[in-house]
Amino acid sequence: MSYILPLHGAPNPSSQKNGTNPGSFALKPDIGGPLTFASPDTPGMPAPSEKTAWDFLPEGWTRDGKFARAPEGFVPITQLEHARLGDITPEMTKVAAHEVHLTAEQVRDEVAAGRMIIPANIVHLKHQLEPMCIGRAAKTKINANMGASPVSSGTDEEVEKLKWAERWGGDTVMDLSTGGDLDATRKAIIENSHVPIGTVPIYSMIIGKKIEDLDKTLILDTLRHQAAQGVDYFTIHAGVLREHLPFVKKRLIGIVSRGGSLLAKWMLVHNAENPMVTYFDEICEIMRQYDVSFSLGDGLRPGGLADASDEAQLGELYALGKLTERAWRNGCQVMVEGPGHVPFDQIEYNMKLQRTVCHGAPFYVLGPLVTDIFPGYDHITSAIGATAAGFHGASMLCYVTPKEHLGLPKKDDVKQGCIAYKIAAHAADVALGIPGTRDRDDELTKARAALNWEKHFELSFDPDTARAYHDEDLDVDTDFCAMCGHDWCSVRISKEIVEFQSGKAEGFERESVVKSAALTVEQREILEKRGVLSPEEIHKLASKTQRVVSDEGERASCHSDYVDSSTAQDIQGERLVQLRSKNASPAAE
Ligand code: SF4
Repeated sequence: MSYILPLHGAPNPSSQKNGTNPGSFALKPDIGGPLTFASPDTPGMPAPSEKTAWDFLPEGWTRDGKFARAPEGFVPITQLEHARLGDITPEMTKVAAHEVHLTAEQVRDEVAAGRMIIPANIVHLKHQLEPMCIGRAAKTKINANMGASPVSSGTDEEVEKLKWAERWGGDTVMDLSTGGDLDATRKAIIENSHVPIGTVPIYSMIIGKKIEDLDKTLILDTLRHQAAQGVDYFTIHAGVLREHLPFVKKRLIGIVSRGGSLLAKWMLVHNAENPMVTYFDEICEIMRQYDVSFSLGDGLRPGGLADASDEAQLGELYALGKLTERAWRNGCQVMVEGPGHVPFDQIEYNMKLQRTVCHGAPFYVLGPLVTDIFPGYDHITSAIGATAAGFHGASMLCYVTPKEHLGLPKKDDVKQGCIAYKIAAHAADVALGIPGTRDRDDELTKARAALNWEKHFELSFDPDTARAYHDEDLDVDTDFCAMCGHDWCSVRISKEIVEFQSGKAEGFERESVVKSAALTVEQREILEKRGVLSPEEIHKLASKTQRVVSDEGERASCHSDYVDSSTAQDIQGERLVQLRSKNASPAAE
């Protein structure tokens, strides 16, 4: 029997074509076209826009073959302007070095089409910024939010969180401070960061004031100040219009965006249109001068499943599409922010509608959460939605931590959020068939099949946690683990079947078993934080290696290559106390 698989032309994400997987079920890549890396459409999805940033050139610009010609004497500043003129900037070259499946020319062309941004303020580039890109032709990115609040945290703590977010894979960081010394915190974060920094400037506009006091001078002065400090992208909630406000009345949870709710109040008090739209061209001019990218804010994003995909949210999305065109006409780079809380079945539609309405401008989404009833676990509920969002078109996923809806994230919450979102982004990239994205998975699979624990942990995203969890039950690097025990270890049994390739990959077999160093202080802390074991129990576990492994370089005394099966069983029963006291689960690998 042969199986007809619904493949659509995407390449295998493994460059070695390892294993038996037929490859990605996504569409054939279309870099340079509107689909770049894309999922197949479920029936009823909107088609991509036929327009790009090329259709929204500034006044006085003309097309000149593949590129454009600017008016006499024009000096390009933004990455978009350089790309339109055909320049390959040093930042584009650096981006291509990280996105190994793209050339610098492709990066430039994607930026010129508006499908990719390089958020790199010219001031921040003078500090430690390492340029990166956000766009569907590139790998999916994640953002980590942080910021002092009026009741918690300060500048030093925020810089510490920044370092922590970078350590755990945050591709950009947003400083959402609403308390403490906002200016000093922002300055410290910009000076210490290697990743682009985003802010929501309306927060600092109204510190110590009432939202009603917001006016043109305050808006433009604040933006000018933060742009000069080196902020790489601004969330500007210019899509919330007066005409949308009646749609909010019947929502279960109104407006959940801080910027959106403040501006709605301003519009009602002043009986006037959103000032961010009124002064949009002036805002563009300031942002262009420093190449601050737009992150067009979703002030009307749904705050619960019951309010998702409603007239308020989609009305704002169409307004954001128009603003995208205006920002492009002003030479600014643009990404668009998206929801929020969205039932799983509506995620693809939301992603594909944005691609149509905003002409392929990168979509930067918060989650979305796919259920509302798991406070304390919203990094999980949202990472599920984020994976679908990444697969169906989002370019950057804004993390959600376990503290979402409950409090200000602390250091460990930042780590948990980052990891949940690295999982989502990576899963989406593999599913989309981005070349080479599955290579590390395949390497880890080979190490796991060979029962090479050291390599297994080395290839893990978080080796310390993986090692600590392994050693919590059994800190002997032998040819099984505590999950199933020796007799039920299917990986060990597969490895023993001579005609199977499993566990025999060259370079992955362990020649000799190195005595495990037992738990490090850091690993012990990981287990302590987990709260399952007391410090005394952990200490006991940390030293048990010494009791079951003989001299340096020899295999663990229970290893099947070292003793016969029945002796291994005896040792397991007599000496590996953790196994004896647990019900070994026969769950498969
Ligand atoms: S099959 Fe079971 S015992 Fe063997 S390595 Fe996997 S989880 Fe551990």
